[in-house]
Amino acid sequence: MDTSFDVLNKWDRSLKGNNNSYKFVLAIALLEFSKNTDLEKTNVISYDYLINIFVEFYWNHLNRYKLNHSISHEKKPLLNKIFLDLDIDENLRSSLYSISYRKLKKDHKEVVQQLLSNKKIIISILGNPISRFNFDNKGSDHKAGKGYFYEWNRKKEIIILNKDAFLTIKKENKIFTKIVQLGLASFLEKYNVQPNLIDKSKFNIKRPPFSKFINDLFKEETQLLGRYTCFYCETKLEKYDKDHFIPWEYVLEHKIWNLVAACRECNSEKSTNLPSKKSIKKLEDRNKEIFSNLKFKIHNDFDSLESLISKIDDLHTNASKAGYLPWNKYL
Ligand SMILES: [Zn+2]
Repeated sequence: MDTSFDVLNKWDRSLKGNNNSYKFVLAIALLEFSKNTDLEKTNVISYDYLINIFVEFYWNHLNRYKLNHSISHEKKPLLNKIFLDLDIDENLRSSLYSISYRKLKKDHKEVVQQLLSNKKIIISILGNPISRFNFDNKGSDHKAGKGYFYEWNRKKEIIILNKDAFLTIKKENKIFTKIVQLGLASFLEKYNVQPNLIDKSKFNIKRPPFSKFINDLFKEETQLLGRYTCFYCETKLEKYDKDHFIPWEYVLEHKIWNLVAACRECNSEKSTNLPSKKSIKKLEDRNKEIFSNLKFKIHNDFDSLESLISKIDDLHTNASKAGYLPWNKYL
């Protein structure tokens, strides 16, 4: 009988040697299944389950967070092509790409149906990681086989888990998840100039609420500097949204130097797009004021105003290179 440590070592070794991210996504699917299932009742995973996780994962990673999973065009995940081939209005495409897969499932069922109609292609993607991930794999081809973590049968479209191993994995889910997260992050690091890649390697990236610190600071900043107008359209505001100047999806953080007061309309219209390069100057001026006020503790992040300015410049340039679209309505 294997100890938890044995299972952990095999799990770690299974994730080695990747020139694509499929193995990581398969590992995520196995973790999600074992976390949410009573393994005493069933240890059989259908390919449909895996397909759903793959589509959700790549939708969020490739479209919403605009992460590169390969530098070369030919080696891009096949799902990339499926997303590009979606028969949707081109004007709608960029706004759909900015929403999470869960929201897509809720509000755009027809698009999800279209995606899942590519079942055959997605199963052809699954074949390789399913046989390669399995430690000590005895499968002679990609159709069926047996390894340490599971048996699989492509004809029946199922994976049968090694119950003992997966009871350990279920129990120690956090540690097994961290190994996958770290491996995926170091994979992504090769192809992306994006902040917070470790956080972006979680399956469910949750946007945390604003902390009390940020809320108070923002309120004070807005009151103190008399900024009751929308940063973008400059209409007077009764109520404001806190808008991430560089989109939250890219920075994945709430920082006072990246938050501006915006009206509801501008905030929703800007969505995950980038304000024009020109408007950076306006943000610089705003930040100069709050930077000079030590109360705002912005100095905790930067040693000088200059380094803050160049940080925002870099974020803007790299987010644009990653594929975040410009929003040029104002400024
Ligand atoms: Zn506005």
